[in-house]
Amino acid sequence: IEQSAYQNDKLAMLGKIAAAIAHEIRNPLTSIRGFIQLLRPHLVQLGKEEYAKIVIDEIDRANEIIYEFLNSSKPSTPDKQDIHVAPLLKEVKLLFESEAILKGCDIELAEIDPALTVCVDTKQMKQALLNIIQNALDAIGGTVCQERGMIRISATGQASQVIISVQDNGSGMDFHTQSKLFDPFFTTKLDGTGLGLAVCYRIIKNHGGHIQVDSDIGLGTRFKITLPLC
Ligand code: ADP
Repeated sequence: IEQSAYQNDKLAMLGKIAAAIAHEIRNPLTSIRGFIQLLRPHLVQLGKEEYAKIVIDEIDRANEIIYEFLNSSKPSTPDKQDIHVAPLLKEVKLLFESEAILKGCDIELAEIDPALTVCVDTKQMKQALLNIIQNALDAIGGTVCQERGMIRISATGQASQVIISVQDNGSGMDFHTQSKLFDPFFTTKLDGTGLGLAVCYRIIKNHGGHIQVDSDIGLGTRFKITLPLC
């Protein structure tokens, strides 16, 4: 299932909206930060200096969130480097360890050739994989069957490409969902943004790769990412 240029336009538009909103929010935040610093001596006199610290820390946190959001919706050319696949997948798996334990789900990382390398922007590729694995965990959380949740991550090198696969035994998807899942804003979740896979798709396309999905209702889903070697 391929995504059209129209869908990429939607993401580009989202990037612009994000930039505009971030700009509008940053200005008042900067001014609040400035005034609270001016008020600091008065708060010190009142013995309430910690209040100023909380306000400033929270403003800084809000700014960081805006920055992260802007970065995740902004198309950026990947800063590619040759990296080993095995440690990348190990690190990504580790990030989900606690959530997997809480959900009673196993994340299995197949044996990966330690010499296997791929030419990617590590931060972007991590982001793409995180989005896919988060969805797999969500699909397992929502499954009605009694089977223990299982996510299998594997990677192989083939000729001039690397194939990374993420398979789950979660809820699976009907055909309608499969045909829409890379659309920005398409979600079937109550609290979903519908951006995870759209961003993932763009990252992989920007790397000259492609992403495919196979899914069966009640059985699970498999995402296959193909990336060209350097
Ligand atoms: P969100 O997670 O915010 O809904 P995504 O773009 O990441 O946005 O996913 C879009 C939709 O694709 C999800 O709402 C879900 O219906 C479907 N989906 C994605 N991955 C899976 C999966 N592994 N199993 C079942 N459904 C999935």
